[in-house]
Amino acid sequence: MQALLELQTLDMKIATCKAEEKELPKQKDKYAIQRQRLDAEIKGSEEKCKNIQLKQREYTGEKEQHEVQLKKYDAQLYSIKKNEEYKALLHEMELAKKQIAIKEERIIALMVEYDDAKAALEADKERIQGELKKIEAECKIIDDKLHKLTAERKELEKSRGPLAMKVPHELLTRYERIRKVRTPAVVPLNEETCGGCFMAVRPQIVNEILANDKIHACQHCGRLLYHVTNLIASPADPPAKSA
Ligand SMILES: [Zn+2]
Repeated sequence: MQALLELQTLDMKIATCKAEEKELPKQKDKYAIQRQRLDAEIKGSEEKCKNIQLKQREYTGEKEQHEVQLKKYDAQLYSIKKNEEYKALLHEMELAKKQIAIKEERIIALMVEYDDAKAALEADKERIQGELKKIEAECKIIDDKLHKLTAERKELEKSRGPLAMKVPHELLTRYERIRKVRTPAVVPLNEETCGGCFMAVRPQIVNEILANDKIHACQHCGRLLYHVTNLIASPADPPAKSA
């Protein structure tokens, strides 16, 4: 029974490790989300810069068209004889000049806007790089923990075989069967109740457990029962190595 309890303690440690090994990577999920958010932020800033440049190009193209048109008008000016046509052409030229001035103004405004956006992008990049570094460090801590935990669990698993050999075969089989459905599979008898399901155990069985001549299972939950006094009283079984 002593060896079985030791085995159970070991199994529970292994189970705790496994559960933690499963949980730890989940902590990285939030960092993955943060990373995505930061990437999106950078992309947004880059997009802004790009859009300003596109607009600049658009206005420059429009300005150039007006300039070409203006040159054409200028060339036409000398071949026109009629006063009315001349006036009309001058009017068109005036309009083209206005358009050029408007586009120039916009291009200059966009230049300022671009400088601001570019500076913001650089600042964002620097800040985000810092945040990414922090995230990386946090993830590394988690990975390291996971590595350590896995190594620990493997060590525990290695020591399981020799320990299981110390448990009588029939008892081990019962234990293995119960622990698939209920853990802990071995529980103490407290007063006259099962330490697992807290239901009363029949007096006859209580007596037999106390007498330590048979290993009984709780008739309600099926867990194996032991009495603390029996553990201390049996010199054949050395007390469990304190964990
Ligand atoms: Zn029970």
